[in-house]
Amino acid sequence: MTDLELIEYAEKQIHSGSLLSREQIVQLLGIAPGSEAWTALGRAAHRAAMDLTGGRAYLWGAIGVDFAPCSMNCDFCSLGEKWGIVGDRREYDEAETVRQVREYAESGVRWIVLRTTEFYSQAQLGEMIRHIRAQVPGPYELGLNIGEFGLETANWLAGCGVDFIYHSLRLGEGKDTRFAPQNRIDTLRAIQASPLKLVFLVEPIGVEHTDEEIADICLLAADCGAVVSGAMARIPVPGTPLGVYPQLSDERMAQIIAVIRLACGSCVPDICIHPGTRLAMEFGANVTVVETGAIPRDACCCSGGKWHQFDTVRAGELFGQAGYTVHQTA
Ligand code: SF4
Repeated sequence: MTDLELIEYAEKQIHSGSLLSREQIVQLLGIAPGSEAWTALGRAAHRAAMDLTGGRAYLWGAIGVDFAPCSMNCDFCSLGEKWGIVGDRREYDEAETVRQVREYAESGVRWIVLRTTEFYSQAQLGEMIRHIRAQVPGPYELGLNIGEFGLETANWLAGCGVDFIYHSLRLGEGKDTRFAPQNRIDTLRAIQASPLKLVFLVEPIGVEHTDEEIADICLLAADCGAVVSGAMARIPVPGTPLGVYPQLSDERMAQIIAVIRLACGSCVPDICIHPGTRLAMEFGANVTVVETGAIPRDACCCSGGKWHQFDTVRAGELFGQAGYTVHQTA
């Protein structure tokens, strides 16, 4: 099939309940940004997004709980202790976390996630979740982005009031990170076997990754039953080993979003772009991320503010320009 024929085929099969093949995903990822086929890909993915979501967009609000050196030393992360970027440690206490959750909830964020470094106490997080649930009423969903765990912990977290987990097998896992890929996959499968929902983006995407690597992670996310997937760019943090390589262009990130949108169809109805751009939304993303607190993509802790001043208002404006309306519930 030519690229244009494959785009047409992909759009027609979004309700089929099946995924595009690895070869088809790789072909779409190989389209040159800015070309006629790239434009057609983006248009098809936007139509697919409108069809699958009814034009509903959602916000993801992340709270980095601990700004602290992490001994896992991932090659892209500012919090790796070996890179010596984290100066003064800082940790959100319960009152500050509740305040941030309340702010997100009142701003219409659907998914609110507490993110920690790898070895943060899971028992402490369970308590925090119960406390937040008691203190902040609302229709938002509450989740965690934490370290590895098994089925027993997954079930316990669900019992504490956790709705979803953000977890992924990162691009370059085991090479650019010190994790055994199988350990990450075991956690993904534990989440899948529990009542918790899984959110799994293809990340952190950089110039160093091949189309085949991106396709494999996209297919794994769908196979693990992710309810939200999408794409997150690797932000080059000076001082980290991968910080010397440039960030992918917005055009390329939008293309990856469009391919994930068409590849997953109705199997993964919500597709997230981080950092959020209008172009990626026009290419099929209906979710984007606002962040506060410790950010693994930055050398400082955004205490009180939002990363890159990208707040819920700005995200909502971009979604409006791309033809969506923002909702807090499905
Ligand atoms: S990405 Fe996570 S596990 Fe890796 S160094 Fe950063 S905080 Fe630690």
